[in-house]
Amino acid sequence: MPHEVRGVIARTRGAPVEVVTVHVPDPGPDEALIRVQACGVCHTDLHYREGGIGDDFPFLLGHEAAGIVEAIGPGVTNIAPGDFVVIAWRAPCGACRSCLRGRPWYCFNSQNARQRMALDDGTPLTAALGIGAFAELCLVHARQTVKVDPSVRPAAAALIGCGVMAGYGAAVNTGGVAQGDTVAVIGCGGVGNAAIAGAVIAGARMVIGVDVVEQKLEWARRFGATHTVDATKQDTVDAIRELTDGFGADLVVDAVGRPETYVQAFLARDHAGRLVNVGVPPEQGMTVALPMSEVFGRGGSMRSSWYGDCLPTRDFPVLIDLYGKGRLDLDGFVSETITLDDVEAAFRKIVNSEVLRSVVIFAPR
Ligand SMILES: [Zn+2]
Ligand SMILES: [Zn+2]
Repeated sequence: MPHEVRGVIARTRGAPVEVVTVHVPDPGPDEALIRVQACGVCHTDLHYREGGIGDDFPFLLGHEAAGIVEAIGPGVTNIAPGDFVVIAWRAPCGACRSCLRGRPWYCFNSQNARQRMALDDGTPLTAALGIGAFAELCLVHARQTVKVDPSVRPAAAALIGCGVMAGYGAAVNTGGVAQGDTVAVIGCGGVGNAAIAGAVIAGARMVIGVDVVEQKLEWARRFGATHTVDATKQDTVDAIRELTDGFGADLVVDAVGRPETYVQAFLARDHAGRLVNVGVPPEQGMTVALPMSEVFGRGGSMRSSWYGDCLPTRDFPVLIDLYGKGRLDLDGFVSETITLDDVEAAFRKIVNSEVLRSVVIFAPR
């Protein structure tokens, strides 16, 4: 019997989101039904609403969530009803050529639920990033769930499911921050600050936060930035070089993803330094031009980081553990807790840089 719950959908391109009745099937083979407790409002949800991630409207939004396993389908062995889980948008298949070569974070066939959630009239919903967790119940592939310490506050645990993992992983997994590294992060929103926190935990000796909004620089300092650069007052590349004895940083993370910031990140690296791009380009068709002699002559690497190159089963428990030990300030990312009815307003706050994260909290049943 399908369950009827409230959920947030984007019905058509650019229209404000709506709270509607969503029909959620019981879990079939390999699927799990999750009673969502908390779900962060991520910029990607706004991209969906604006039609930036395909045309498969209507979308059921929400993809940064934690909750309790309500029911499991046949064949599920990794979780049981009652478990506290964080939902991942990467669930490696174990059988594609990346998985078989031992690189499951590049899986080509990440697993999702086979059944669709739907509207009253039967219209199937496209779940954002294969999740759709702005709903009281959410149907996912069981391997999209990672069981974690149930004593952790759901609003904090949820953030590991997307933004915090993406930023932390960009610095630690993709960027390979080592003891004594100098690190600069351009863009100090949720993802950028998670990269700053990750760099600090991995032993960076200097972490420079760069942004154009003073509030964001303040957040950067909270998460451990040793220095900040206001890019409205100083040239980003000059400022990073000055702070690093004229050399540039060992690792520069571009958490914005625009051509200008990418070039700045490229130029602000030390000799043989690393660039990691974790910011999703805001528009299709953007291009970046770099002097070829510098691409060769500077050496080092330029990499993109998808979801922090994370392996959820490996990395989620680590981040929860760091939180428990007081080393990763997940609570610091939670600017406000809201209800399902406030998601549209939360989008405006993202655009205006008023929040790091608004987190939807669901009333206990
Ligand atoms: Zn996200
Ligand atoms: Zn695979």
